[in-house]
Amino acid sequence: MKIPLADLKAQYESIKPEIDAAIQRVLESSQFILGKEVEAFEEAFAHYCSVKHCVAVNSGTSALHLALLALGVGPGDEVVTVSQTFIATLEAIIWTGAKPVLVDIDEKTFTMDPAKVESALTKKTKVILPVHLYGHPADMDPILQIAKKKNLFVLEDACQAHGALYKGKRVGSLGIAGCFSFYPGKNLGAYGEGGAVVTNDLELATRIRKLRNHGGTKKYSHEIIGTNGRMEAIQGAILRTKLPYLDGWNEKRRQHARKYDSLLQGLGLILPREAQYAKSVFHVYVIRTPDRDKLHARLNEQGIGSVIHYPKANHLVDACKSLGYREGSLPVTEKISKEVISLPIYPELTQEQIQTVTEAIKTFLLIKKR
Ligand SMILES: *Cc1c(COP(=O)(O)O)cnc(C)c1O
Repeated sequence: MKIPLADLKAQYESIKPEIDAAIQRVLESSQFILGKEVEAFEEAFAHYCSVKHCVAVNSGTSALHLALLALGVGPGDEVVTVSQTFIATLEAIIWTGAKPVLVDIDEKTFTMDPAKVESALTKKTKVILPVHLYGHPADMDPILQIAKKKNLFVLEDACQAHGALYKGKRVGSLGIAGCFSFYPGKNLGAYGEGGAVVTNDLELATRIRKLRNHGGTKKYSHEIIGTNGRMEAIQGAILRTKLPYLDGWNEKRRQHARKYDSLLQGLGLILPREAQYAKSVFHVYVIRTPDRDKLHARLNEQGIGSVIHYPKANHLVDACKSLGYREGSLPVTEKISKEVISLPIYPELTQEQIQTVTEAIKTFLLIKKR
């Protein structure tokens, strides 16, 4: 019996009539890009995130890139972020012409270590960009305090944390803006590409609206140089259909995480910990073991879809060589990148499947001991 890392088919089957109707609605309307469906989703998602505005775009990468551009980030500027993230966070910064300055993470939560931020700031710093990784919020209050003191923007990468709470507040609503991805495997996923920026700042939202649509909010009005970053109507319709299910799906993920916790404790593995301040949405369930590579191979041999997020720390990948980091630059990031492995987690996962995964891990650990 194969167990995938995420089962998009199972989710579709559970809401098929509604999704099919939503797609049909778009086909009948023949409005394929932006339009009513996307606007309705923007309104619903802004409300969900407890913010005033949402601008839907064509990917999480675009959300980050356009938000940075709209904040005025460009050549000569620095953006403080983490290496422990998906590379898109760094790409978005680099494509603005600014330089990513990478800080180490807190070993318990895998997110930006606020204690490392202050010494990374220079006169060129414009933005601090924490990432709510694996569904777990970064520790925002100390980061926001530093930003306030130094007059910097905080932009949240919430691409893996739709619905997560920081001290009871939605991630994405804490900084000047929050960026989301609706890549199919994310907690809220489109059936194609998608992303969004949420913010309470009308001026910023308007600027992003222009940037995503060739520099204007009306056809052939080009007030600034923009690009094509628009969301497709089909994705907007699908996302709006799925949004009311998100909290329930996240709750299921949390239940599965607790089940994993109880079945995997006492085996010498480091299990994910939720900080006092956080309500995680377990985008992935990440455990740590020094035998990571062998465990990964073993699980995949048995048809269990485990994945490494991420096999190599971003500051050490070829594409980032010119940033000037080397082995030893970010010790915590480097240490955990050799030990982390993500186990299957998705709302439709069954108790039996969780049993199968944990039994496979236990057998692996037993054989290793002998
Ligand atoms: C998925 C992801 C992105 C990029 O989103 P896309 O929609 O794939 O472009 C950015 N940052 C993080 C942390 C992500 O997980």
